Amino acid sequence: MRRAAAPNIREDPSGNGRGAALARPLLRWYDRHGRKHLPWKSGDPYHVWLSEIMLQQTQVATVIPYFERFVARFPSIEALARADVDAVLHLWSGLGYYARARNLHRAAQVLVREHGGRVPRDFEAVARLPGIGRSTAGAILALAFGERHAILDGNAKRVLARYHTVAAPGGSAALEQRLWALAERHTPRTRVADYTQAIMDLGATVCRRTQPSCQTCPLARGCAAYADGNPQAYPRAKPRKTNPVRAVRMLLIRDRKGRILLQRRPPSGVWGGLWGLPECRARDVRRWSRETLGLEIEPERAWPRLRHSFSHFHLDIRPVPARVMNGAGKVMETGETVWYNWRQPDERGLAAPVKRLLAQLRES
Ligand code: SF4
Repeated sequence: MRRAAAPNIREDPSGNGRGAALARPLLRWYDRHGRKHLPWKSGDPYHVWLSEIMLQQTQVATVIPYFERFVARFPSIEALARADVDAVLHLWSGLGYYARARNLHRAAQVLVREHGGRVPRDFEAVARLPGIGRSTAGAILALAFGERHAILDGNAKRVLARYHTVAAPGGSAALEQRLWALAERHTPRTRVADYTQAIMDLGATVCRRTQPSCQTCPLARGCAAYADGNPQAYPRAKPRKTNPVRAVRMLLIRDRKGRILLQRRPPSGVWGGLWGLPECRARDVRRWSRETLGLEIEPERAWPRLRHSFSHFHLDIRPVPARVMNGAGKVMETGETVWYNWRQPDERGLAAPVKRLLAQLRES
């Protein structure tokens, strides 16, 4: 049965600021059901910052073990700033979106250089750090220091768009503008840290993208999308696009000791700064290797194709194992090239398909 439509923004009868109609039931729900024992709930601003970066595009359950390994290895901002970027990428391996790790490392160096190795309480200074946008800066200051800043991560966007049936098209500036205005308006003056955690938790566990649990939602009474019976219509989906498919051969070139040739990828772009396999797009692999790597190789039978999907394209990888016939010495180990002993792996960030292919090599 269709329920009476809810008004868009409720006034707060207590005078605690507009939007308390959402904050109050949300905070009551958080007191009973919120996730208060997450490992970054220590309140240490470094932990809050690190977790916020790791949680971008990644779920809590996946992040927890990465977070724990990371802080065990880099217990302070100074330790992170001093670290080799390879060690940082190594600990990030598997989390994806590696620009986050490179930015985190650079930001730690900025914090040491300009802020005495601490996360500053100044919004502009936090928002200027590499890899930090408006929502992440707001979340860090709200969660670490209890300062009143709005957030608008994916979870908060979904809750607000549904609560107010915001109908602007997905991905549009109008949608962002409207949601930011609502986020600002709903953020309470007190218990900001709890509110910030609560709206993220509610979006992740109750107001899920598919099958939201409206029956158990503390906001159900005031939620316009629930009243209309169509929560999943909000926020509006972005127009669908079909991602293109690119194809590449990845060469698993072994030297006489069985080591595999790896090359460091350029600092920006896909798997930026990680170690990858030589990629060949030419038809003649032998000739390509001779001319590009200075190596005579004997290619073997290609392995079955594997697909790696990014947000904007699919990569079809054809792995080609090959042996070096002569000239291994011509490939000098430099900061950009290495003969990698995969039987005794060292600490370096490997691109996801390299890890998969080396695991296959171990099993073969
Ligand atoms: S009532 Fe349903 S749609 Fe509305 S905020 Fe709660 S879970 Fe989301």
